[in-house]
Amino acid sequence: MKAIRIHEPGDIAVLHYEEVDIPDPGVGQVRVRLRAAGVNHRDIWVRRGNFGAFTHAIIPGSDGSGEVDAIGAGVTRWAVGQKVVINPGLSCGICVACLKGDTPACRTFRIFDGTYAEYAVLPEENLVAMPGGLTFAEAASIGVPYVTAEDFLVRSGVLPGQTMLLWGATGGLGLATLQLAKVRGLKVVAVTRSQSRVDRLRQYGADEVLIYGAGDDLSDAVMSLTQGRGMDIVVDSVGRESFQQSLSSVVRGGVLVTVGSTTGGQVSLDLGRVFRHRVTMLGAFMGSNSILPRLMPLFSRGALVPVIDNSYPLEQADQAHDQMENHGVFGKIILTM
Ligand SMILES: [Zn+2]
Repeated sequence: MKAIRIHEPGDIAVLHYEEVDIPDPGVGQVRVRLRAAGVNHRDIWVRRGNFGAFTHAIIPGSDGSGEVDAIGAGVTRWAVGQKVVINPGLSCGICVACLKGDTPACRTFRIFDGTYAEYAVLPEENLVAMPGGLTFAEAASIGVPYVTAEDFLVRSGVLPGQTMLLWGATGGLGLATLQLAKVRGLKVVAVTRSQSRVDRLRQYGADEVLIYGAGDDLSDAVMSLTQGRGMDIVVDSVGRESFQQSLSSVVRGGVLVTVGSTTGGQVSLDLGRVFRHRVTMLGAFMGSNSILPRLMPLFSRGALVPVIDNSYPLEQADQAHDQMENHGVFGKIILTM
């Protein structure tokens, strides 16, 4: 089969389009003939070696959709030909965390890598039936962003009518967060770097849109939008550039979600501000495997709409990464095979 492999960490040049043996499914495993893969920031971190050195060549990619191609011994839930979406959180399935549905707390929890390929093999419990009405590309764009956003929204305890400040609103995670927040009845103030994206953010539910340029301070604008009160929840995936503004924008007793650090992860933190204002700091990274099956009906009936910016054939994964890193997106980047 054809696959993108990384032999050593680096820039987009380390994404090699290669011929690789088709994997066979073992006991309890299913082989999927992939039709589309969603590109996540995580894939870029994997490529750069941020998760550690490589001991062997890695096929990146956590999100994907396709058709069941072969099943291993003992598989009971799937048959060849069924359309499926990958639920990429891998865990032991038998520890206390797994049994209560909190799979990311499992000591063996990790995120699947391997969807930049024509075939992938996964445990049967890591597949979800693909909802009717979605294309393979749309289905491949759901996993990591919607699971991550739904997880931190649930844990934050936000209520209908509350306010959200959303940095990085035009990315895959940002648009997933925006849609899930609107389903919950939140008022969302979205932040973007580009005037040209304001109308589309409003189309997807943003109540207000703030334009952010490097060096800007949006704190005053946030306060005037909330009559000096501040935001009930601030979602920050930007990191160093935005963190201070995020902290000063949270209402007393509010929640600051940190879910990425695209401009760097080292920040200085005024603990007095955190404890005097009773701010909850909430780290977000993926979520339970129970989330994706629960969200699928919302896609079937159009309450959630995957947003795709651009599709590339698998062999152009380097171009897909280049767009994501250097040229901005409105929604997801997809690879097709
Ligand atoms: Zn476990």
